[in-house]
Amino acid sequence: MCFIFKLCFSQNPCSMLQFITIIMLKKYLLFAFFIWRGNSSPPRSIAVIGGGIGGSSAAYFLRESFGDSVSIDIFEKDSRLCGRLATVTIGGKEYESGGSIIHPRNLYLRNFVETLPGLEVANRNNNSVFSLFDGVNYIFKSSYWKVTTAIKMLWMFGWSLMRINKLEENFMSDFQRIYSLQNGGMSFANTSALFYAMGGDQYSHVTEVTAQSYFTLHGVSGYTIDNLVNPALRVNYGQNASVNAFAGAVAMAGIEPGLWSVKGGNKELCYKLVTNSSANLVQEDVTKVGISDEKFTILTSQSAGSQREYDLVILAAAVGGNMYEIDVTEACEGPSPSFDGKKYRRTVANFVKGKLNSSLFDCSSPTTCPTTILTTNQQLFYRSIGYHMPVDYQSGDDIAEGVYKVFSALPLTEDQRNFLFETSIETATVDWNAYPEYRPPDIPGSFVLNKKGFYYTSPIEWAASAMEMSVISAKNAALLAYQNWYGSPFVSRESENRKTEL
Ligand SMILES: Cc1cc2nc3c(=O)[nH]c(=O)nc-3n(C[C@H](O)[C@H](O)[C@H](O)COP(=O)(O)OP(=O)(O)OC[C@H]3O[C@@H](n4cnc5c(N)ncnc54)[C@H](O)[C@@H]3O)c2cc1C
Repeated sequence: MCFIFKLCFSQNPCSMLQFITIIMLKKYLLFAFFIWRGNSSPPRSIAVIGGGIGGSSAAYFLRESFGDSVSIDIFEKDSRLCGRLATVTIGGKEYESGGSIIHPRNLYLRNFVETLPGLEVANRNNNSVFSLFDGVNYIFKSSYWKVTTAIKMLWMFGWSLMRINKLEENFMSDFQRIYSLQNGGMSFANTSALFYAMGGDQYSHVTEVTAQSYFTLHGVSGYTIDNLVNPALRVNYGQNASVNAFAGAVAMAGIEPGLWSVKGGNKELCYKLVTNSSANLVQEDVTKVGISDEKFTILTSQSAGSQREYDLVILAAAVGGNMYEIDVTEACEGPSPSFDGKKYRRTVANFVKGKLNSSLFDCSSPTTCPTTILTTNQQLFYRSIGYHMPVDYQSGDDIAEGVYKVFSALPLTEDQRNFLFETSIETATVDWNAYPEYRPPDIPGSFVLNKKGFYYTSPIEWAASAMEMSVISAKNAALLAYQNWYGSPFVSRESENRKTEL
């Protein structure tokens, strides 16, 4: 207790609120069962497995906390970085094919773009029109005038809209608490502890109930769930309100105004993070993580049986089920991570450069068709259609540079494409195991695979998969590693200069 008090009041960024939160968190707190090595010199080497946004931000945070003398290796099996953040090239232009939108209140991602040289927010096509479509008719179409859109939405969804807005506002402001807790050096063993810190008991079981029951309990009508929540979940997670309530809240945030992306593609984030972390990029496929004499060992398919040794390891790739295969049994204290019989959901991003079927969609060109078509009918073979500009779009560029991205469970057949499009000049398909298939209760596993120093970022995806979630988990893993090594919490050196929200 003395230690907690000292942590809060000697280290400035911790407020009274945080102190109270820490006390309330005692049932989840990690400190008690953590092995603290209490070293006085830095570790020799740390490995990060996976060069996605989770792994590359982990390398960045590790450098920030451990300083320059530590050797950090980041293993990536593919020839490119950033995993599920990628682009596809059509007509010589690149378009986001994986994770594409970022919420304005995703502070880590925003901070990366503001502080890492060479990163910029992408320009957006401001003439966007959002619609809800049942397969035959539009049940809602936004206007270019924000006030008109707000009135139309209110007319359609009534009090339920206000209730959802209030829930989302509360959710986002509770979510922001994570940043100040992490900035104060706090780490979490699992998502329950993290969500409890966010807002107490109301969030401790948030992944165990459905979004349907959560929204209904808070007075949101069935009509609004069917016609607003389900379409948001179809586009963001390829599912409906049967997902867990946390994923439901994240998906609803994903249709709010102000969403942004990175110029040149979100994948640029990983390249800049790895460069700025001065980590050594090892382009090898990790096959096994083991442990011997207090050191973790890594074998790759390229290393011909010779293993590398590390003091600390962060696993930033979802292991198990239909995702990545790495044998971590020997290095884990408990059972190896698994998805508990669940799997990642297939989502196909079908790209079409062409013209939408004007009679089906009641429009004739990109300037008259809605730029976002979310679907309310769950029987449709497509989940959403969006008109997207290239990642290097400049305002003033010809709007005809855009392509349509259709999300579906399976690749579109030629007949299906001809049904949706009058003309298709060029097409491309990117097939993903995109995000977890949520079937609450979703109980994400532990972030700590071995208290001697083996941490895992991907469990957070079972609450909700999003770029910022992976970054938050990466920050947590770096904090766990630091606390394990030195036996004391890491508090950001920049904390006093950072923006107040951080
Ligand atoms: C179609 C689609 C749309 C999405 N839309 C959004 C969105 O709009 N906004 C949003 O925030 N999120 C979105 N997401 C989710 C987001 O992309 C992910 O949550 C995030 O990218 C996950 O990052 P990660 O680093 O945790 O995992 P990954 O991106 O999966 O990275 C893991 C990395 O580990 C590497 N790896 C795996 N096995 C090994 C091995 N054995 N050895 C070495 N390396 C290995 C992989 O190659 C990969 O690069 C979307 C995802 C998809 C697929």
